[in-house]
Amino acid sequence: MVVIAVDGPSGSGKSSVSKAVAARLGLAYLDTGAMYRAATLWCVGRGTDLSDQAAVAHAVRVMPLEMGLDPSGPTVHLDGRDVAEAIRTTEVSTAVSAVATNLDVRAELRRRQRQVIEAEQAPEGFAAGRGIVAEGRDITTVVAPDADARVLLTASEEARLRRRSLEVHGAADDSAVEATRDQVLRRDRDDATVSQFHVAADGVVTVDSSELDFDQTVDAVLAVVGQ
Ligand code: C5P
Repeated sequence: MVVIAVDGPSGSGKSSVSKAVAARLGLAYLDTGAMYRAATLWCVGRGTDLSDQAAVAHAVRVMPLEMGLDPSGPTVHLDGRDVAEAIRTTEVSTAVSAVATNLDVRAELRRRQRQVIEAEQAPEGFAAGRGIVAEGRDITTVVAPDADARVLLTASEEARLRRRSLEVHGAADDSAVEATRDQVLRRDRDDATVSQFHVAADGVVTVDSSELDFDQTVDAVLAVVGQ
């Protein structure tokens, strides 16, 4: 039974790399960023004023969220509805930091994340309870500081902007990268007010993917895990 924690800023490649590591090791996979995105979509859908901290916290406490943990096809269901695509819109990406910097929201989502991680450590969990790869911004430090392996996946600003630009615009030419720049850097700055994900905490191993291709990055994380 193993718990692997992966943190990193947007565009570091942590979602695709974490999924590949989980698939390789036969582990479950939890995308905690998708939970903050779903919380944002839920509040927007209910017409909750995102600047009303108490109202947002209440909405998230009653949010009916189901995370599917199969790394080859992770799912996100909100009130029974498949929202895997709806949580990736620019509207959600722009609003998510406002929800994620709400400390009561963080407490609630961290509680749910720990529940998932603990359940997957139990013998009857996913894939014979072999464990889980959980990724986000505060997994190595707050959600699972006792994880068996803890990795901070970083990349240079240029590399991160290029990757996000490819994801969002399907291109990484100069104008596409510029269109991504403000959104990515602002979100990182806002997120950094509540999570430390630019510097590795004690015992967390940094993997810099700037000069690595995807397979090399997966191998580098597997090496940290000792596989
Ligand atoms: O990883 P992703 O970019 O999908 O995360 C979306 C947002 O969720 C982040 O910008 C951040 O505001 C929030 N987040 C967080 N803590 C985590 C994971 C994500 O605050 N563990």
